[in-house]
Amino acid sequence: MKTILVTGGTGFLGSNLCHRLVNDGHKVICMDNNYTGRMSNINDLLSCDNFRFIKHDICETFSIDEHLDQIYNLACPASPPAYQGKHSITTTKTCVFGAINMLELAKVHQATILQTSTSEVYGEPLMHPQVESYRGNVNPIGIRACYDEGKRCAESLFFDYYRHEGVDIKVIRIFNTYGPNMDPHDGRVVSNFICQALKGENITIYGNGLQTRSFCYVDDLIEAMVRMMNSQKGFTGPVNTGNPGEFTIKELAEKVVAQTGSLSKIVYKDLPADDPTQRRPDISLAKAKLDWEPHVCLDEGLKRTIEYFRKEIIQLSAAAE
Ligand code: UDP
Repeated sequence: MKTILVTGGTGFLGSNLCHRLVNDGHKVICMDNNYTGRMSNINDLLSCDNFRFIKHDICETFSIDEHLDQIYNLACPASPPAYQGKHSITTTKTCVFGAINMLELAKVHQATILQTSTSEVYGEPLMHPQVESYRGNVNPIGIRACYDEGKRCAESLFFDYYRHEGVDIKVIRIFNTYGPNMDPHDGRVVSNFICQALKGENITIYGNGLQTRSFCYVDDLIEAMVRMMNSQKGFTGPVNTGNPGEFTIKELAEKVVAQTGSLSKIVYKDLPADDPTQRRPDISLAKAKLDWEPHVCLDEGLKRTIEYFRKEIIQLSAAAE
């Protein structure tokens, strides 16, 4: 049994990770400022002896007497509408100050620390599919830069703490992920399309819908994260974690309509600035080093996610009455 800190623990990925680690018998400390995270994602864990929640913003320093074995650093708004606009500066601070504070904590505890980086470090990729050695094509002054450059800076901090401070680091680059515990209001494509379809609202495709993404089901991603954390000492990554199946956004909309049996219409809206044209991970490194590859295909993952959102929408509308 290990003592493990999960920052961003009430968010989509964080809460799924907390459930996995509690089930594995570890002592889990879940930390979040609940800016985009939701307590409802972890309510069922609060009664577990091996789980506790601490409300804290990782932009502030943090210390704890209890020895930490591992830190998963997930805290950061991750949906474009959540990190852009008036929250952009908070996003950069969370990436950068948060990384420093958590790396300092890892140093004190001699804990292994895993950074959840992102496919966004590749920006608008000129290489396809993306391999870890590709250095990316990011607009440093665009509306996505707070997240893209924030996460890039965090990676550089992780590698400097590894080189100069002897911190045991692990870095994964997460591609688009979906599944239960996504926030219905967070504005990402999978949650938007499913909620729109279930409510009979128009399905909003931004641009012509020919841009592509690779969608990984959350359970597969969490498995990769845990494998990376427990990988051979000295293996730092970065490692791409995602599902190499690539779909256009239009194909995704059609799948959601078909699976929900919705009468919703597909409508087209403006494409946001700097929206990447294509994205697909090369996962050869994850296969070789972590013996990992995803198992849940998009059709199956959508089925499970639609079930989750059906219940979520019923609960939200009951609470609103
Ligand atoms: N998108 C869309 N309709 C929506 C939300 C998103 O067409 O209601 C598009 C978005 O422009 C992007 C893709 O879907 O091309 C994925 O968007 P998301 O915000 O989920 O993640 P991203 O990969 O852009 O970070």
